[in-house]
Amino acid sequence: MTASRTRVALMGATGSIGTQTLEVLRREPEAFDLVAVSGGRRVEQLAAVATEFGVRHVGVSDESDRSRLADLVSDDVNIVVGEKGLRELCTGPDVVVNAVMGFAGLPVTLATLEAGARLALANKESLIAAAPVVAQARLTPGAQILPVDSEHCAIYQCLVGSTEPGHPDVARLLLTASGGPFRGWSRERLRGVTKSDALAHPTWSMGPKITIDSSTLMNKGLEVLEASALFGIGTDRIDVVVHPQSIVHSMVGYVDGSVLAQLSRPDMRLPIAYCLGAPERLAHHWGQLDFRTALNLQFEPPDREAFPALDLALAAAQRAGAAPAWLSAANEVCVEAFLEDRISWGEIVPLVARTMDEYVDDPLADLDAVVDNDATARRITHANLPS
Ligand code: NAD
Ligand code: MG
Repeated sequence: MTASRTRVALMGATGSIGTQTLEVLRREPEAFDLVAVSGGRRVEQLAAVATEFGVRHVGVSDESDRSRLADLVSDDVNIVVGEKGLRELCTGPDVVVNAVMGFAGLPVTLATLEAGARLALANKESLIAAAPVVAQARLTPGAQILPVDSEHCAIYQCLVGSTEPGHPDVARLLLTASGGPFRGWSRERLRGVTKSDALAHPTWSMGPKITIDSSTLMNKGLEVLEASALFGIGTDRIDVVVHPQSIVHSMVGYVDGSVLAQLSRPDMRLPIAYCLGAPERLAHHWGQLDFRTALNLQFEPPDREAFPALDLALAAAQRAGAAPAWLSAANEVCVEAFLEDRISWGEIVPLVARTMDEYVDDPLADLDAVVDNDATARRITHANLPS
């Protein structure tokens, strides 16, 4: 029994997706064996996970975290450090869950695909920033991406049966958006937004960066780029639909007029479990949709004027090459600056736009080009921040 368990590595185990992945794994001890975990900074939490699940390989960010962790776990635990360590942990397991936040997740994405394993991908930033390089790694025999991001997991499920490359039978991907905490707010009202307003998402509880991205709608812009890279469908065939209840997680419109949707209560444990178990479906233990009570589903177009991040992302998609990498890097820098109270909410997207104004076309030929472009975009954005 034990020998046939699926070996899972969980990178970013201490975050929002990481801890929800652990909740799924706790329910499936016969099916999965957690063999490796990583997490930045929260060493005590990481040690507790390693001990609970009997994990033998643990990745930390630096030497000081390594020595702190070594005091907390048993001697036979192999502790690896930094990016090289992350790559090591992704070589060997059957499935790697990439729940790292931001561009730092790129080594996980690439090492997993290059090892020919299944990548359960929450970390959208790595795919967006390095799309051509990821596409190459994805050609490795056995390599496979299953999207954890709820919208993309929904689309993945609605595309089962659409097998031709480029999906010619698909008219449009319909990416749903909750609209975030500021849905319906005017530009005027948005000027007064505070950090606690922006951190209060109406339907999802997530890490701070993606919560802010949801409030600016940059998350949806990034998700359009993510969907295009994942499914090989141009952004001209991807629409964003605001759906405040977060019950319909996205839809696929086929050429015959049929629209397929995936529905569930908003709970990231569902897409996580789908990515771990597919093609099998694992039982969900945290409640189902109940159609015996009234259920109102509402759909409306996004307010592109109040939330210009969406058009900024579409413009980056048009320019292709390294433009999405610049957008994502500039956004990471601005969101961090906002979370550190260095800029206001209203400055995030204009500052990203200012970085994009300086973008010079680059085809993004290889990993070095990805790393260089990320660094350049960050440098330019930092230079534009108030001192
Ligand atoms: P989080 O901030 O809660 O957790 C991030 C994890 O990454 C932590 O374990 C942290 O230690 C680790 N990490 C951060 N920086 C790192 C670095 N430099 N090197 C190594 N590890 C590092 O974030 P989250 O909300 O869980 O999001 C993780 C990813 O999943 C993001 O890309 C996000 O866009 C995506 N995602 C999250 C949700 C959600 O519901 N939280 C939904 C869809 C997609
Ligand atoms: Mg999403």
